[in-house]
Amino acid sequence: SVTARAIIYNAYGEPAETIKCHSYKIDVDSLKPDDVVVETVACPINPSDINQIQGVYPSRPPISADSLPELKSPAAVCGNEGLFKIIATGSKVSNFKKGDWCIPANVNFGSWCTHKLGSDKEFIKVPQTISVNHAATISVNPSSAYQMLTYFEELKPGDWFIQNGANSQVGRAAIQIGKKLGLNSLNIVRNRDDIDELVADLTALGATKVITEDDNGSKEFGKTIKSWLNGKQIKLGMNCVGGSSVTGLARKLGPDATLLTYGGMSMKPVILPTSLFIFKNLTAKGFWITGNIKRIPNSRIDTIKAVLKMIEDGDLAEPKYDETKAKVSDLTDEKLLHIFTAGLANSKKGKQLVLF
Ligand code: NDP
Repeated sequence: SVTARAIIYNAYGEPAETIKCHSYKIDVDSLKPDDVVVETVACPINPSDINQIQGVYPSRPPISADSLPELKSPAAVCGNEGLFKIIATGSKVSNFKKGDWCIPANVNFGSWCTHKLGSDKEFIKVPQTISVNHAATISVNPSSAYQMLTYFEELKPGDWFIQNGANSQVGRAAIQIGKKLGLNSLNIVRNRDDIDELVADLTALGATKVITEDDNGSKEFGKTIKSWLNGKQIKLGMNCVGGSSVTGLARKLGPDATLLTYGGMSMKPVILPTSLFIFKNLTAKGFWITGNIKRIPNSRIDTIKAVLKMIEDGDLAEPKYDETKAKVSDLTDEKLLHIFTAGLANSKKGKQLVLF
């Protein structure tokens, strides 16, 4: 048997004070025919994972006595995304063999763990031709960028889209997927001391133009943008931020455009001028990749396949993460808990990936 450890919560609350580590045994020698046992290769800490622990995210795993063996009280396992390696298979499993890589087929998987026992249907195989970082983070951020760029407006090569939060993982993926699709992107980022470095970085990824939130809010700067567009109209907007950022973004959209709101990083409401709805026929909608799993059958698997192809073709650069290594052989409950508590604190400064 193997000793598995998982980061869990028994009630909703502030993540750092709420999470615990639970250890239990998985008997790899007495599996049901369809069972597989996986060990975790890597898992990210995403904003939605944090919101789930806080109890404010609409899609959440149940806090249940059945979520893991040997629980002292009902719990849910943290985390949704991750990369896993098959270490044992039941007698009827034909789609996986030991050593294969896989990712969760569904959301609310409980990925912040060292091992997991589940049915083979709970996993999608991924090829080992892509990097660990790509494989562990394929189903949320690049998949969201892909769907936003392809599901709403029929964008053709040469068309423009605009986005704020352009330095987020979603934004960086959108820049690269947009480039692959032949699209031009106008990217809004927060100002900072090393803004030239960030502009160079995003431009190297394929951003057509990068502007700051100050430029975004400036009427004067509108003339520069007009000259860049050279008579073209922006058809799609992607809003990660809200507040005055989305107001400026929306003002740059052309007639009949679609504005998708997928994040609210400023914690401010989406503020849109009435005139854009009346005179420019603006459509403003929400985007939620988890909602699309139910609404658009096969969207999860189809999107993952499309993004996988882009990664294999070298169209998406290695995603940037602050990496922490958890060495399974000398883990204790305390050590694993500490890794995730520190990861949660550090996630305010940058994206975190825990490697096992
Ligand atoms: P990241 O942690 O990679 O990026 C967060 C970004 O937000 C950073 O670029 C940061 O800017 C920016 N930011 C933080 N605070 C503010 C603020 N006050 N004002 C403006 N910008 C701010 O996040 P992800 O790419 O993982 O996710 C981004 C957002 O998208 C999250 O809200 C997430 O929940 C959401 N999301 C939604 C999905 C959906 O289906 N609806 C799917 C995936 C993600 P800077 O670079 O300047 O630090």
